[in-house]
Parts: sequence; structure tokens; C-alpha cells
Amino acid sequence: MINDSNPEIQFAMEAVRAGALLAREVEREMVEPALTKEDRSPVTVADFAVQGLIGCLLEKTFPAAALVAEEDSAQLREPEAASTCKRVAEYVGRRLAYATPQTVCAWIDHGNAAPCGRFWTLDPIDGTKGFLRGGQYAVGMALIDEGEVVLGAMACPNLSDAQRPESGGPGTLVIAARGQGAWWQPLETGGALRPLRVSERTDPARMRILRSFETGHTNVGRIERMAAAVGVTAEPVRMDSQAKYAVLASGHAELLLRLLTSKQPDYRERIWDQAAGALITEEAGGRITDLDGKRLDFSAGRMLVNNRGLCASNGRVHDMVLDTLRAVCENGER
Ligand code: AMP
Ligand code: MG
Repeated sequence: MINDSNPEIQFAMEAVRAGALLAREVEREMVEPALTKEDRSPVTVADFAVQGLIGCLLEKTFPAAALVAEEDSAQLREPEAASTCKRVAEYVGRRLAYATPQTVCAWIDHGNAAPCGRFWTLDPIDGTKGFLRGGQYAVGMALIDEGEVVLGAMACPNLSDAQRPESGGPGTLVIAARGQGAWWQPLETGGALRPLRVSERTDPARMRILRSFETGHTNVGRIERMAAAVGVTAEPVRMDSQAKYAVLASGHAELLLRLLTSKQPDYRERIWDQAAGALITEEAGGRITDLDGKRLDFSAGRMLVNNRGLCASNGRVHDMVLDTLRAVCENGER
């Protein structure tokens, strides 16, 4: 069982829950008009509002804690963003009555810390495109200690039962702590934590591969060559965001790959995109490495500069997939 009376575990759960429920309000109220009018503004509002809210909550709960988060307020402070900034403050103000544009910008910038020995990392809204489509998005938060993820929390408003896409359903909250397993509960109502366990499938033909909707985020051709080489017949599972990790951890898929594209061969993963999911995968009995089979190194700053791409699996198919990927490389691809 997870020690849910531990203050950091409690904080992480309540922070991602509060962030995700606020994001859901933005999603319901703003996505449509802004899609046709102001370019991407709902995403901006949700990203900033969630980071502002969680930045403030962290500062109040653990004043000395460092936060490394995706956004900063520079854009929001520009004169032409004044109306967006006001909306962000209005949303945060629904939870923290004393929020003003100035205080919210400061709370957002609470996330500007440099990675250090022990720090939190936050992705306020992961899966921008999913957010816009009413699909999958996630609020992800993790605690990193000397390069090791020790706690990971993720809230997915449009995922039910840790595996089923459902817009406006009860949502899913996942929490994992090193050595204490990975667990989930409904996002809205909370309640008993239930264990997450990866699938036991080993048959390559039945391997369900989690894939992005955004083809620019991976190397689709190489995934397809690998799948053909091992004889995969199962349908892939396509979804945006870190919610893919919940599906893997709950045993409803076997593999999640992030391969480098020929357009951006030097892309390196951001820590806030992978930290929570990496621990959730391991604590559910799965395995996560880079494409060379190396452990992810969270001690190297804001990006995983010492790792190339990423492979997360139920563990059973892991080596076979990495070997096959190497075998299907073309034209000097690594
Ligand atoms: P997904 O929801 O699977 O499409 O992945 C979304 C994540 O992809 C975001 O968190 C981005 O940080 C990340 N991302 C953005 N550009 C790239 C890229 N060129 N390669 C890989 N990932 C990217
Ligand atoms: Mg992200």
C-alpha cells in the first residue's frame, strides 16, 4: 500500500487534482470560442492557470521546495497579453480568492527554479492538441531526488478507469511512490486507491502499441517497420499526452515508444513530460529505458540530455522491441 498520510504524497495528489479540475473548467468554457477566434488561447489560459495555482499551493505547503515547471510568465506580462492574463487570474481566483494578474505571474514563476538535489517538476497541461480536441490531456507532477524520481502524480480528466477515453467522465488520478507501487482513483470523487499492474502479454502479435496522434512527435515509419518485423496484429492505441502511461500501467497496452524523427534527430525529452510516467510504469511492474536500453537520467537538468528517445513497456516485450528497433534502422539512423 502507499503511505497516503505522507505529506508529499498527499500534496502531489491534491495539487494535480486541483489543477486538473481547474483545467476542466477552462476546457468546458473556453475551448470552442477561442478555437475559432484567438489562436490557441484556451491552452494558454489553462497552462498558465494550472501552473499558477500549483505554484502557489506548493509555496504555501512547502515554502522551501524548488519547482521546475514548463511555463513562465514572460509572455503573459506583455501588454498585448493583458486580457489573457486577466482571464488566467480570474480562473485561479476561483480557487484562491486573492489572485491578481501580478500575484498569478509570480506564482507561475515560482516554477522557474533550476533543477537541484531534490525538486518538484510540473507539466501543467500535457497534450495541448488533446486538450483542444476534447481528447486526452494530463496534469503531471513528480518529485526528483538526486536524479531519481521518488514520487509521481498524474491527473487525466478525460480518462476513465485509468484506461478508457471518456470526455467529461469521472477522470483518473494516478499516484506512485518509489517502492510503494502505483495506484489510481477517480479524479473527481477520490476514494479508495486501486493498484495498477502492467499486462502479462508476451506474444508480439498481441502487443498493443500506444501512439501519439501527432506524427511529428515520433518516428512513425520506424514504429511500423518494427511492428511488421515482430508480426504485430493488435490495433495500436492512439492518444495524446502522458495519459498513455496510465493505460500502460493499468495493463491495457504493452508498449509506448518515443523515437527520434529525421526532422529533429537531436530532440531530447523534457523531464516534466516523462518523470511521473516513468515512475508509474516501474511501480506498476513495467520497465522504462531510452532506445539504447539505458536508465533515464533525471539528474541532467531540464531535459534528458543523456538519453535518446524512450521505450516504456510491460517489461516482458522490452528487450525484444529494442533489438528489433535496432535491426530495422535505416540509412544510418540510430
Ligand atoms: P504526444 O501527446 O504524445 O503527442 O506528446 C506530447 C509531448 O510531445 C509534449 O509534451 C511535447 O513536449 C513533446 N514534443 C514536442 N515536440 C516534440 C518532438 N519534436 N519530438 C518529440 N516530442 C515532442
Ligand atoms: Mg508536455
